[in-house]
Amino acid sequence: MITIEFGGAAETVTGSNFLVKSSRGTFIVDCGMFQGPDVEYRNLEDFNYDPSSVDFAVLTHAHLDHCGLFPKLVREGFSGKIYATTSTISLATEILLDSAKIQENNFKRGIPFGKFVDEVKLIYNSKDASDTISQFVSVNFRDTFEPVEGIKITFIRAGHVLGAASVEVEIDDVDGKRTILFSGDIGRAKEKIIDSYDLVYKSNPDYILLESLYGGMFHPPIEDSTQDLLNIVNETLERGGNVFIPSFALQRTQLLLTIFKHAKLNGSLDQDVHVWLDSPLAQRITNIYLKSLQQTDEPLFDFPNLHYVKKYKESIKLRKHKGQIIIAGSGMADGGRIVEHLFHGLKNKKNSVVFVGYQAEGTMGRVLVEGTKKVRIGTKNIPVNARIEYLHGFSAHGDTVDYENWLEPKKSDNLKKVFLIHAEKERAINMKNHLKDELDIANTYIPKWKEVVKLD
Ligand SMILES: [Zn+2]
Repeated sequence: MITIEFGGAAETVTGSNFLVKSSRGTFIVDCGMFQGPDVEYRNLEDFNYDPSSVDFAVLTHAHLDHCGLFPKLVREGFSGKIYATTSTISLATEILLDSAKIQENNFKRGIPFGKFVDEVKLIYNSKDASDTISQFVSVNFRDTFEPVEGIKITFIRAGHVLGAASVEVEIDDVDGKRTILFSGDIGRAKEKIIDSYDLVYKSNPDYILLESLYGGMFHPPIEDSTQDLLNIVNETLERGGNVFIPSFALQRTQLLLTIFKHAKLNGSLDQDVHVWLDSPLAQRITNIYLKSLQQTDEPLFDFPNLHYVKKYKESIKLRKHKGQIIIAGSGMADGGRIVEHLFHGLKNKKNSVVFVGYQAEGTMGRVLVEGTKKVRIGTKNIPVNARIEYLHGFSAHGDTVDYENWLEPKKSDNLKKVFLIHAEKERAINMKNHLKDELDIANTYIPKWKEVVKLD
């Protein structure tokens, strides 16, 4: 008998964690952190299963909501291998060490673990992150391997971010073979800097776990948001203001650098404009992208007057300048160096702040894009006079059309059920309706957190 336990990303977006039990062995796909006001407390709870009982693990990609609790799993007894692509391992190494460092700093200063829990707790430290990293084993896309006898695994390119994969698992169980396909996070049909999701690979799974984050929604084309961004930038620079872009370190920052590089090449952004990348994590991640993607002598991300800001004291100096672009983490302005830039820059009506990604509830980014006139930063109330913009076209996630394009070639008489995951319940319901109307797939199910489903 095969069962899947939905340890996360069920009726919510984050905390990806799927425990599969079979007569051949027990494994998990992803072990991600929960993010957001109603789920963050779950990071502090015990796992629903004994970590030492898990034989091996598979990681789809390096985002924190997919890899961020592996060090906790290791700390609590998991000693098996964690299979992932080479790029995912390089990226997850940076993400996990960064996450451990933030926790250690907060813990030392008596700051609670998260934004929505009061408890001061260290769920893992740098050593746990390093131990986790030593358990990673690199696999190639499309190579099938057998971590334990009777369980075969194949990673398939998913687009989304560098190294991201969907994972196909074939289990030769005592009562017959079953193939389960975990979508991971699915990227967009036309990716700008990495390859898109692989539609050439053929498979006919019995079960599919499908990301439904943007179920029922459709993204504007990236070209529209690119044009909007350049218009905002040029208008702001003309009036002598600064442009602040809170950006996610992984993929979004590299996309922005590509956009500014092309804009400078084609003359839609002046060559003299200074662009500051003020995030050490984003710089390290950009270097990983470079190592993996650089094929010719033409620089991928570099352009005239792009500067990497390393030290904090260099970051402070940026406040004196006008007419520049500052890209800094975090993407939702709830931490990182962008907070101080906004502390000093929000009151100036010549400045602009451009949000380029999802803004979760409870973050400063969300409050700003909702049009607040005042924000509290530290102990001060800061008037919001700067222009605030929110561009939706840069998402690294696919939309409803992408999910359907991705799913359609995998539809066969074998398909017994599609589980709709990685989404708020309402979006999952939208996706369920779309699959019925557009692809005539009616056997869909929205699992609940901690629900255990038996696969027939
Ligand atoms: Zn992701």
